[in-house]
Amino acid sequence: MAQIIDGKKISEEIKKEVKEIAKRLKETKNVTPGLAVILVGDDPASQSYVRSKGKACEEMGFFSITERLPANTTEEKLLAVINEFNNNSKIHGILVQLPLPKHIDEQKIIEAIDPRKDVDGFHPINIGKLVAGLDTLKPCTPAGIQELLIRSGNDPDGKHVVVVGRSNIVGKPVANILLQKQTGANAVVTVAHTGARDLLPYIKSADILIAAIGKPELITGEMLKEGVVIIDVGINRIKDASSPKGYRIVGDVHFESASRVAKAITPVPGGVGLMTVAMLMKNTLKAAMMQTKTTQC
Ligand code: NAD
Repeated sequence: MAQIIDGKKISEEIKKEVKEIAKRLKETKNVTPGLAVILVGDDPASQSYVRSKGKACEEMGFFSITERLPANTTEEKLLAVINEFNNNSKIHGILVQLPLPKHIDEQKIIEAIDPRKDVDGFHPINIGKLVAGLDTLKPCTPAGIQELLIRSGNDPDGKHVVVVGRSNIVGKPVANILLQKQTGANAVVTVAHTGARDLLPYIKSADILIAAIGKPELITGEMLKEGVVIIDVGINRIKDASSPKGYRIVGDVHFESASRVAKAITPVPGGVGLMTVAMLMKNTLKAAMMQTKTTQC
């Protein structure tokens, strides 16, 4: 059976490290990392994500502000709120919870955030730096995937990584992170997507498969190469009459059949999902250190 890559354990490890460094930052420089989270509207999933981000800040000893705005907030008002946080020296990281209501231009909002405070790593300046292999704030889920691989002893160096999915949030950034000539990367990367006439040859050739598709259990054991390492990013709700909620959460990979073939696999839930908030904490700390010109503490 496959090794289970434990996202809970690894995310706790990262948060512990962040907390320790943040404590030293406070002691040596009197700096407390500060995160502003902006939520527009009342989408229940977004509300729950925002709550968990606030809770994590508390756990880390960070300063945090959650700005809740009504669904009919104008783009102008949201831009003004961002501008205020851009100019607030207690705030080192700004995160606008996506998706935004349809009347707001998401790209315009992302670009309004000071790139030095862009802890989601979605600003074109940070994406450009990431592609160029420069030090920057990396998007949280892709950076979390890299950490999962390294810390579980599955270094991508020299491996053929196949990413299925080309979103700006997961597929494209994770491919760009892992292909860099850097420690914990240096992989040969293929990105497959809906343009592929036949996915199978790509999936079959993967040493490391990263599934960021959003289709429940699309990838099954018989499609995989023996010994593959699987990072399942998918979070899909499927009906389940036996569950009290009437549904359960599954990934993009059929866990049972895949874990008979794979060397290692992330569970859903309990894998990638838990890494995103941990990496957000790491990015907030990094942003605070960059803004206070702290290289070590
Ligand atoms: P998206 O819908 O933006 O992108 C999905 C990608 O998959 C697209 O690029 C598309 O080309 C590709 N795709 C879709 N169907 C395909 C098919 N049949 N064959 C080949 N390629 C196909 O989604 P996303 O934002 O990248 O998210 C993907 C999944 O990851 C979702 O389930 C989402 O909920 C989950 N997710 C999890 C986290 C986390 O764990 N923290 C973060 C972000 C996204």
